[in-house]
Amino acid sequence: MRNLLALQKLDDKIGACKAREVEIPKQKTKFDIQRKRLKAELDEREQSITALQLEQKDCESTIEQRKAQILKYQQQLNDVKKNDEYQALLHEIELEKKQIAAREERILNIMVELEAAAEASEEDKKRIQGETDKLDALCAEIDDELGEAVAIRNELEKNRDPILSEVPADLIRRYNRLRRNYAKGKIVVPVNNEVCGGCHMHIRAQVAIEVMEGNKIHACQHCGRLLFHPANFEEPEAATQES
Ligand SMILES: [Zn+2]
Repeated sequence: MRNLLALQKLDDKIGACKAREVEIPKQKTKFDIQRKRLKAELDEREQSITALQLEQKDCESTIEQRKAQILKYQQQLNDVKKNDEYQALLHEIELEKKQIAAREERILNIMVELEAAAEASEEDKKRIQGETDKLDALCAEIDDELGEAVAIRNELEKNRDPILSEVPADLIRRYNRLRRNYAKGKIVVPVNNEVCGGCHMHIRAQVAIEVMEGNKIHACQHCGRLLFHPANFEEPEAATQES
């Protein structure tokens, strides 16, 4: 029974380690979200620069088209005979020139905007790199923490074999089956006033007496947990500790 209690204590610690091993990597989730947000910021900045560059190209090609159109009109001027047709062509040429002037002005503005965007982009990249470095460091810390938890668990697990070798095989099987059935809480439980410390039901008086004598290992008739008499074991925490 003493060995079973030691085994239970050890397995509780191992279980806590395993729970930590599951929890620790979850901290990375929020960092992944932050990373995505930073990446989105960079993408947005790049997209606005690309959009400006495209608009500039668009303006340039429009200017080329308009200039070509003006050349055509100017050649037509030589061929027209009537004055009103001549005036109409001149009017068209004026319209084309206005369009060109508007595009040229827009290109100047785009160049100013592009310069500002490039500067802002450089600053963004520096800031985002800094933030990413911080996240990397935090993730590395988490990995270290996880590695430590695994190392602690491995050490604890090494302690199981010596205990197992002291306990009869059929009892180990019962213990393991109980651990599967009662994933949470104790499975080796104290008896207090003929009450099972696991399910809190009354057990038979005869069983309580035999548990108190400590010669036989009994299971609770209601929940199947293994029973011990706390006063028989000096460790007070083993008797009262509930998880
Ligand atoms: Zn019980």
